[in-house]
Amino acid sequence: MKKALLVVDYTIDFVALDGALTCGPPGIALESYIASLTEAFVEAEELVIFPVDVHDENDPYHPETTAFPPHNIRGTTGRHLYGRLQDVYDANKDNIHWMDKTRFSAFAGTDLELILRARGITELHLVGVCTDICILHTSVDAYNKGFKIVIHEQGVASFDPEGHRWALRHFENTLGAKVIR
Ligand code: ZN
Repeated sequence: MKKALLVVDYTIDFVALDGALTCGPPGIALESYIASLTEAFVEAEELVIFPVDVHDENDPYHPETTAFPPHNIRGTTGRHLYGRLQDVYDANKDNIHWMDKTRFSAFAGTDLELILRARGITELHLVGVCTDICILHTSVDAYNKGFKIVIHEQGVASFDPEGHRWALRHFENTLGAKVIR
């Protein structure tokens, strides 16, 4: 079975204490796990994709503009990766596929599915933030498209502990995902 790792939205705005829309400490706690898992996938020559939110400030046509404070604005440091993951990315740029996304799901409006299908990938490993928003929406799309889903519990977090726990149950009980604990 061919697999890929999706590292979703692990940026300064979503993770750092002073990030614009931050998970805070639960997100910061993932730093080492996500960086090490990314290195392991790169070393094993498996596909690694970084789907990262991008917005234009005050975009009147974007549904998030009225729902959330401005975050991950194009060209700002808030869109840089948090902590050691930025170093891992800088050292492995040729082997990590950066993917701008504009919606919660990494499949929405991107060529993610085409890239996965072309490589015969059937199993998706997910880490990043937030468990109950972008990880959830990406997983639901992956489920509907027939991909096998693996969620790394030590690699996902949310600002909402209740939402985090609910999403982990949903992955396992409803989407048939494997949750690695
Ligand atoms: Zn966003």
